[in-house]
Amino acid sequence: MEKTVKIYGAGLAGCEAAWQVAKRGVKVELYEMKPKKFTPAHHSEGFAELVCSNSLRSDSTTNAVGLLKEELRRMGSLIMEAADATRVPAGSALAVDRDKFSQYITDKIRSHPSITVIEKEMTEVGDGITVIATGPLTSDAMSEYIQRELVGEGLHFFDAAAPIVDAESINMDVAFFASRYDKGDADYINCPMTEEQYNAFWEALVSAEEAQLKDFDREEQKKLKVFEGCMPVEVMAKRGHDTLLFGPLKPVGLIDKRVGNQAHAVVQLRRENAEGSMYNLVGFQTHLTFPEQRRVFRMIPGLENADFLRYGIMHRNTYINSPDKLDGTYRLVSREGVYFAGQMTGVEGYIESAGSGFVAGLNAARQALGLDAVIFPRSTMIGAMADYVAHGGTGAFVPMNANFGIIEPLPLRVKGGKMAKYEKLSERALEEIDRIKDTI
Ligand SMILES: Cc1cc2nc3c(=O)[nH]c(=O)nc-3n(C[C@H](O)[C@H](O)[C@H](O)COP(=O)(O)OP(=O)(O)OC[C@H]3O[C@@H](n4cnc5c(N)ncnc54)[C@H](O)[C@@H]3O)c2cc1C
Repeated sequence: MEKTVKIYGAGLAGCEAAWQVAKRGVKVELYEMKPKKFTPAHHSEGFAELVCSNSLRSDSTTNAVGLLKEELRRMGSLIMEAADATRVPAGSALAVDRDKFSQYITDKIRSHPSITVIEKEMTEVGDGITVIATGPLTSDAMSEYIQRELVGEGLHFFDAAAPIVDAESINMDVAFFASRYDKGDADYINCPMTEEQYNAFWEALVSAEEAQLKDFDREEQKKLKVFEGCMPVEVMAKRGHDTLLFGPLKPVGLIDKRVGNQAHAVVQLRRENAEGSMYNLVGFQTHLTFPEQRRVFRMIPGLENADFLRYGIMHRNTYINSPDKLDGTYRLVSREGVYFAGQMTGVEGYIESAGSGFVAGLNAARQALGLDAVIFPRSTMIGAMADYVAHGGTGAFVPMNANFGIIEPLPLRVKGGKMAKYEKLSERALEEIDRIKDTI
């Protein structure tokens, strides 16, 4: 009997998944609740709606998301085809005319003979192969079903995460390794501040620009009492000049053995992955704008040239605590024919969502055709994202943008600095993609 793959949600991930399934000769039923029902951020009737910025970020292959774009291009991604066809001038970034972008994808999907679009809110999963790509604002009924029947407690509704920096960009002439009171191994990187440095940092922090909160973000924050358990660092700073000194910048028990004394304040950075290539700023969940995070957090001694692999965010986001629940194909480990794709798997961003849709769609089609699963190697950006989702890092699982901290490191150190390293990583990834693309 001819198999059909059901896909829920015609966003960035769902459209890419649908395309990858259909182009392999498998029929698709694509379920989208628009225009009957809209999430609080979606407003247009078209598919793959960009809910905020029209920039898909860097298009250079020495940038992680630029590399992911090139990988997707080479493998025949619909989202990248649409982006290239509707791009608008934006320097080294790839920005698109959002209406034309969405129209391009909608036309392609609607006119494909193997894809049937059904306008309906989905609230459960039946038999057969299904890809759930209902996004960060998945409707309540579907979220409840996912929680109740598919992933249990492992579904989050809010993302409050601190920034993550590239370990190589931390100035270790200033920062030092130590654990508080020397307990355990010297696991943390510590950035010491003098009183003057603290005062300047505090001033900058309390006057920095915050990102606009959407109404639904504010409501969700209230519901989760996020301000109690997970207060933004700038909100804590506004409580008083010294409040941070008793919170995340507490210096006690952190001695820089090179100078033998305790600093006035210390920012701690915790390892984010086993290789130690990424570190997060402990207690620095924030909703400052990204440029302000870059400006203010680079005032921290040792972080003056920090490369932010991901910025801190606090927003409504439905996502699964994916490690061990999803595998490297984005398939639910506990249920044979159910895949997830998009932001709800723990990838973050438009292109990352499309990338996970590509992998889930490819594998859903292969399952329908009775073929073996394809897991992309971690040396590719698309494979590194899937690996991160399936296995996570060393701490609590946080949604992640494409970045060079999660890709498999090169066997040897590259001379010539960061850009030379990224070039090599990129070359290796694209060689892998060129090798794989004809086999899938
Ligand atoms: C307010 C906001 C701003 C953002 N800004 C940016 C940004 O500037 N840059 C960036 O890279 N990322 C941004 N993101 C993240 C962004 O959502 C993702 O990058 C991307 O859109 C996720 O793709 P997706 O396919 O997972 O979900 P979406 O693109 O959201 O698609 C999900 C689709 O599923 C549909 N749907 C939901 N529930 C159901 C249901 N039960 N049945 C059927 N259909 C359903 C929705 O209508 C929607 O069409 C933002 C997210 C939000 C919420």
